Amino acid sequence: MKVLRDPADLSIARDDARRVGITVGLVPTMGYLHEGHNSLLKAAREQCDRVVMSLFVNPTQFRPGEDLGSYPRDEQRDLAIAREAGVDLVYAPEPEKIYPAGFATEVTVTGLTEVLCGSSDSRGPEHFSGVATIVAKLFNAVDPDFAYFGQKDAQQATVIKRMAEDLDFRTRVVVLPTVRDRDGLAMSSRNAYLSEGARERAAAIWKALLETESVYETAGLEAGLEAGRNELERAGITPEYFEARFPGTLDPVEAGGDEAILVAVAAEIDGTRLIDNILIEPEKGKVQTT
Ligand code: AMP
Repeated sequence: MKVLRDPADLSIARDDARRVGITVGLVPTMGYLHEGHNSLLKAAREQCDRVVMSLFVNPTQFRPGEDLGSYPRDEQRDLAIAREAGVDLVYAPEPEKIYPAGFATEVTVTGLTEVLCGSSDSRGPEHFSGVATIVAKLFNAVDPDFAYFGQKDAQQATVIKRMAEDLDFRTRVVVLPTVRDRDGLAMSSRNAYLSEGARERAAAIWKALLETESVYETAGLEAGLEAGRNELERAGITPEYFEARFPGTLDPVEAGGDEAILVAVAAEIDGTRLIDNILIEPEKGKVQTT
């Protein structure tokens, strides 16, 4: 497994791959790898000839005062996991290589980035400009045939799909299901921050989403959202948002019906901000009338 730190070296590897006509899969990560990342690596390994994993804690997607400085990092462990997963090349640049002096470009996807995590009382749209810019740079540097993202960050995946289509990237964006701990908590590098008590309470997030799904099936959207919010309240969690949106457009859902809906939540538990969501398929979302 090669570890490259310079975009210039990466372009040599990319051109080599192109010359021999093999397929390249990219898995972008901020490291501190867990089973969620592993599922993306595994899919890439199965579907592509060459697997590239990027390892970069992207400063521009953190707000001032967020956890950039304390974001968990363990490069040696990450490299061992990547090697085990069959990664061919890890791209782990220093921030100065990505954002050299004079860097002044930002990729902004409008609309989709102004709701949920992008609303002004959440992380704000700038977070997604940071994400879209780094992913655009990675797509240019690696030129992958496929790039793998997790449904856990549903809004991020939607924004990246939009960006890739709008900017004519040839890369196909693949979104894979959320990997969960035994009690349902979505795996996240930030789970490492949780104290034992906070970790136990955090399981209420997935319980709340399941509760919404089941009540939605029988009593409709309003009741479903209320049941989910109540579940969180019982665990002493006040969500930053707990909302139903259409997955492709992120437009708000008024009542639900024949289309899939995304119920997304963000909540801070003892200072750790967690996000999760559930995609409710149409056949499950039908309100029973008998
Ligand atoms: P991160 O390192 O947190 O930026 O995540 C890198 C990629 O892994 C993103 O596409 C995430 O959506 C994905 N990911 C993170 N957690 C999970 C999870 N629990 N299940 C599936 N994918 C995940």
